[in-house]
This record gives sequence, C-alpha cells and structure tokens, in this order.
Amino acid sequence: MPAIDVDLYSDTVTRPTREMRRFMCEAEVGDEQKQEDPTVNLLQEMVADLLGKEAALFLPSGTMCNEIALRVHCRPGDEMLAHRTAHPIHYEGGGPAALAGVNVSALDGPRGQYDADAVAAAIRPDSRYMPRTRLLWVEQTSNLGGGSIWALDRIAAVTDVARRHGLRTHLDGARLMNAVVASGVAARDHAAPFDSAWIDFTKGLGAPVGAALAGSRDFIAEAWRLKQQMGGAMRQAGIIAAGGVFALHHHVKRLAEDHANARRLAEGLAGLPGVGLDPATVETNIVIFELRGALDAGAAVAALLARGVRMGAMGPRTVRAVTHLDVDAAQIERALDAARAVLV
Ligand SMILES: *Cc1c(COP(=O)(O)O)cnc(C)c1O
Repeated sequence: MPAIDVDLYSDTVTRPTREMRRFMCEAEVGDEQKQEDPTVNLLQEMVADLLGKEAALFLPSGTMCNEIALRVHCRPGDEMLAHRTAHPIHYEGGGPAALAGVNVSALDGPRGQYDADAVAAAIRPDSRYMPRTRLLWVEQTSNLGGGSIWALDRIAAVTDVARRHGLRTHLDGARLMNAVVASGVAARDHAAPFDSAWIDFTKGLGAPVGAALAGSRDFIAEAWRLKQQMGGAMRQAGIIAAGGVFALHHHVKRLAEDHANARRLAEGLAGLPGVGLDPATVETNIVIFELRGALDAGAAVAALLARGVRMGAMGPRTVRAVTHLDVDAAQIERALDAARAVLV
C-alpha cells in the first residue's frame, strides 16, 4: 500500500494523542464486572449526565450498544423502523436478525432522514399475521446521509408518532457530539425524546476503544445482563474508559475544526468538473460526493491513494471522505491538490 499522507477514510482511523495515552496510563482501575472500576464508573456517570438519562453502561463498541439496545427493546418477531441507510442494516453482520430476531422495515427520505408521515405509514395494524412494530430508530448524525443533522423538530415529530403507537425509541449517536457542536443544541436535548441513546468514543472523539449506552435504570439493568451474556463485561477496563473520559474533556469543542475542514474540502471538490456535490449540504465531518467523470469510485479511490490520499468508495460512483483530529487544514489542501489531478 502506498504511504498515506491524508487519511480521510473514516474518523475511526485516529490514534490516541500523547496526552490521551498518558491519561489512560495513569487511570485508576478495578474489576469492571463487579462495578468496581472507578474510571468506568466515572465515564458512565459522565455519559448519563451528558445524555440526561438515569444510567449508562460502558461497552466495547457502538455496534454492541445498538445490538444490546435492540435486544432489550424487542422480542424475536418484532419489527423496528429505521432509515434504509441505518448502520444495523448494513454494517452489523446481520445482528438484528442473528442476535435479536428482529425484522427491519426500511424507511426512505433524503439524506438519511425520514419524516413523521413515513413513520405513520410503516406502523403495522394490530394483526397476528404481521410483525409487531416495536421500535423507532434514529441515527444522529446520519452517516450515509453525509453527516446530516436531524433537526429537533423532526425528531420530535417522528418520536411523537412512535410514542402514540406505543413504540420504543432509540438514538444511534455514534456521531451525536458532531451534531451537538454543529447545531449548538445540547446532547441531552437531542437524547430527551429517546428511551435509549449512546455515543461512540472512537469516531470524532478520537479514543481507541469503547462506547456508552444510556437509558433508564431498568433499561441499563437489562443491558447489563446482555453485556454479560454476550461476553462484553470486562475487568480493568478503566484503562480504556479513560480514553473516553479524556475525549469528553478535550475533544468535543474541537469537532468544530473537523466541520470547518469538511466544509473547505467540500467547497474545493464541488468546483471540480468530475464531482457532483452541493457543499451547503455538508453540516458536520462527512463529505459524500458523486463522480461525473471517467473514473468509477473504485478507480478514483485507487488513484487518490496513489497520491497519498485515502477516501472510501461507498457505491459505484459514490465516494466518502471523513475529517477528524488527525487531519489538519494543510492536509485538506493537499487532499484537494490530489483531487484536482484525479477527479477531472
Ligand atoms: C461506527 C458506527 C456504529 C458502530 O460503532 P462501532 O464502535 O464501530 O462498533 C454505529 N452506528 C453508526 C452510525 C456508526 O457510524
């Protein structure tokens, strides 16, 4: 593989900073399974407070947050409503079917978001022929929607319909803090209409491991049972939880830099003849664009990589670039230099 100068493949490629590593090194630890790890306990309290929920649970990954939440909310044979692009549909190894026995009904709408009418139309009548519609799912920001931010009034509208029909509600907040920084709306206000919500420490926040799922005390008690059952309970996990603590203290406000870099990248790309992109749609740290030139996505990504710039092919003619704390403004200019040579 050629040397990578600018890695825009994902915000998961970040490496812990020297300061974060030092903080992790010095973390106080204990047996997490016995709830005796002070750093894990602290991180859980921080996340519960941040999201305005009674309790939170540290887990090895965002995927486990999603899958455990599905299993707590649903019984096998139940149905969840999620946008067609939602992470559990595409990137969790069939987890909803394999682990929760849940049917997914995929909703449509621009930029990874559906509306209240789509929810109302998808909720099943009470019939023993049909799956029971049990859960509504929102991804904030929407990854395949180009990092789009769900506005609070849209969230209120879709969750109102859900609650009127007795559905539970779940917020996949892998990049919730990007939405918080870009919109100025507090995390707890984003999370308030949801029964469960989580944040990932390994995306823009730049920690090496972990995510935390929040909800009511009863919800978290059930989630703990499943964490244990699925082998997600750990021992001296404070050493990794410390990365999350550090990130919440030091890596939230700086997400604004990632958003500015993404906007700059989008404006540069939009000026190229081979690119289809409206930079005004770039709200956070994800830039998704279409290719209009000779190269398909695989060839374009390979040609960019040969020039030291890594992006991801998301479809036959769709490319994704993601900004994060290991990419600075000068690297964005170098990425644009490469793009000018390739995306003609
Ligand atoms: C990355 C991601 C996840 C899964 O998180 P992991 O920590 O990688 O398991 C879930 N949902 C969305 C929207 C994501 O981007």
